[in-house]
Amino acid sequence: MAQLVLHGGAGGAIADRPQRQAAVDRALDAGWAVIGESALAAVQAAVRQMEDEPLLNAGVGAALTQDGTIELDASIMDGTELRSGAVAGVRDLRHPVDAARAVLDDGRHLLLIGEGASRLAAAAGVARCEPGTFATDRQVKRWEAADTVGAVARDDGGRLAVAVSTGGVAGKLPGRVGDSPLIGCGFYADDRLGAACATGVGENFMRLVLCHRAVLEMASMDAEAALSSAMDLLSSRLGATGGMVAIDRDGGMAARFTTPFMPWAQRSG
Ligand code: ASP
Repeated sequence: MAQLVLHGGAGGAIADRPQRQAAVDRALDAGWAVIGESALAAVQAAVRQMEDEPLLNAGVGAALTQDGTIELDASIMDGTELRSGAVAGVRDLRHPVDAARAVLDDGRHLLLIGEGASRLAAAAGVARCEPGTFATDRQVKRWEAADTVGAVARDDGGRLAVAVSTGGVAGKLPGRVGDSPLIGCGFYADDRLGAACATGVGENFMRLVLCHRAVLEMASMDAEAALSSAMDLLSSRLGATGGMVAIDRDGGMAARFTTPFMPWAQRSG
């Protein structure tokens, strides 16, 4: 029995909701197609697909900085051996989640930024591109609110994995790094407990180290209850909203959001 749950961001913008849901559904298919390989392969494939969806804030279609540039963050984690890889502030990698995977596979470090991240990724065969590749008319015109993408999977060996990719919050200062590439803040996975990833204004998830907290809670409750508790804490402690998806060690899946909308999808089988 395997599980996959993913989201296309809790930014809550009114526009294009059916299209954003359809984009997430396509990513579910892309991830599910390789879940037989591993949970890690599934989350990478699902997030990679969402990086190609111009209506989602990751890869093509990413939010712009205050200067009108694009700086992308991505991460991936394997809950079996607690291996993790992330990149922040990359501008010329076609698929930031592939770069995060290259950092994980390399194994020396957990987080690389900017040009150093691009160099390691390119040496590992990740495609580079022109920074202009990611800008879409929609983002240039609207500077839309946050809409990170993320995926959590459990394969039939009980291995958990999580991956996240984002352009970050719209209008961010150049150099700003959010929760998405920070272990424990925007993502976490541990086969012995569960796995989770987050979307919303990253500074809030960073203050609460919320994904790690939610995963620790799964020692004594299922994914559904752990996410309710995490969303309650986000609200009561910081007055903030957001969204999360998770899978517990028994394969229980959950998606919770306190913004008006978060496209998400799940499959089990
Ligand atoms: N969490 C992301 C960030 O702060 C944004 C989002 O979830 O949409 O960079």
